[in-house]
Amino acid sequence: MVKIRLFHLYPEHLNLYGDRGNMLALCRRAEWRNIAIEIVSIKPGESINFSSCDLLFMGGGQDSDQKLIVEDLKKRRDELKIAAENGMVIFSVCGSYQLLGNYYVAVGGEKLAGLGIIDLYTEAGSRRLIGNAVIDCPLWQPPRTLAGFENHAGKTYLGPSVQPLGTVLTGFGNNGSDKTEGAVHNNVIGTYLHGSLLPKNPWLTDYLLEKALSYRGTPVKLASLDDSLEQRAHDSAIVLARSRRHKRLSTRA
Ligand code: GLN
Repeated sequence: MVKIRLFHLYPEHLNLYGDRGNMLALCRRAEWRNIAIEIVSIKPGESINFSSCDLLFMGGGQDSDQKLIVEDLKKRRDELKIAAENGMVIFSVCGSYQLLGNYYVAVGGEKLAGLGIIDLYTEAGSRRLIGNAVIDCPLWQPPRTLAGFENHAGKTYLGPSVQPLGTVLTGFGNNGSDKTEGAVHNNVIGTYLHGSLLPKNPWLTDYLLEKALSYRGTPVKLASLDDSLEQRAHDSAIVLARSRRHKRLSTRA
């Protein structure tokens, strides 16, 4: 039976606004295709060999949680960087996305070292960027939309050769000004979108599963599923993001 090894880094520290639902979506959509999923949860201090990981998920975390895990993350930096360059799949949301970059200057000015996997940096601004967001994402042809929820003080700026995950249609994205959202490097995806993101954007879930299978050496074109419920969730997230009520909320300081 085809199998994916799904690692979940610091689940007790990095999990905001339903991020754990991303794990559920990955597991269910794999199981529905008879693909086995082995989950490995990693706590700070635990020794883990990432050479057996196909797909690594890291959720979001407030500044206080990022500070709790950053020293442990630093010890894994070389191993994770090599794995990412070799094509290991990483899906990372908000607080962990910030730590995929070169550094994050948190609220209050403390500078947290990042993994340096993607050429980007983040600095906390004085205003939080909050609300439902929609982006146009060119990972597929024709491009598809991704709908999620963002809440961050950090403003992220991408290096010149880094591809954003998408273009902001509604919301703030990486920094509220350049219309980019998230970043992609090899099979590494970082995004500000919580939500949970994957249950209502099943095409991204399948993209990650397919990339993980090819990385493992068993490329599979996943059979399509009946996504009518997921599509309805996606569509209603878009309606919410574009509603006047949302716009009032997201302009609050
Ligand atoms: N602590 C980070 C910020 O506020 C990330 C928050 C998050 O993961 N939602 O920018």
